[in-house]
This record gives sequence, structure tokens and C-alpha cells, in this order.
Amino acid sequence: MSQFENLRASSLYCNKCAKAMPVRESLLLVLPDKEIHDYLCTGCSSSLGHREVSSGELMLSRSAMGRRRSTGMMSPFRP
Ligand SMILES: [Zn+2]
Repeated sequence: MSQFENLRASSLYCNKCAKAMPVRESLLLVLPDKEIHDYLCTGCSSSLGHREVSSGELMLSRSAMGRRRSTGMMSPFRP
């Protein structure tokens, strides 16, 4: 899906550089249910913003890379 790329910021306005600068994304924080990515100015390396990646989005990208078969339902009850 190329539309997905539009959600990502490729350049943001930087106060220090006084213009829109290309940014690079770096992983800032990993939480149980989401990850926070930081957008750093490529000119002065100051943080220009951040993006939260929800676990649902992560699972989608992970399942796309390597499909893992879930363990089958094991019933604790036996007839
Ligand atoms: Zn800058």
C-alpha cells in the first residue's frame, strides 16, 4: 500500500534551522502496547516530533514479514 507512506512525515519545520528540514526516524520508546518513534532533524538533530505506532500496526507489519502459525486451541476437557 503506497498510501501508507503518506502517513509518515518526511520533512518537518525546524525552529533552529528556521525551515522545513528532512527528518530521520528513530525508535524512542518501546511500550507493551505501542512504540514511540522520534523524528530528528537531519540538520541539527533536534527532535521535531514523534509518532506512536500502535501494537495493531506493529502486528500487521510483523505478520507480513514472517507468518507465525498460532498454537492450536487445546481443550483442557476430555470426554
Ligand atoms: Zn534543524
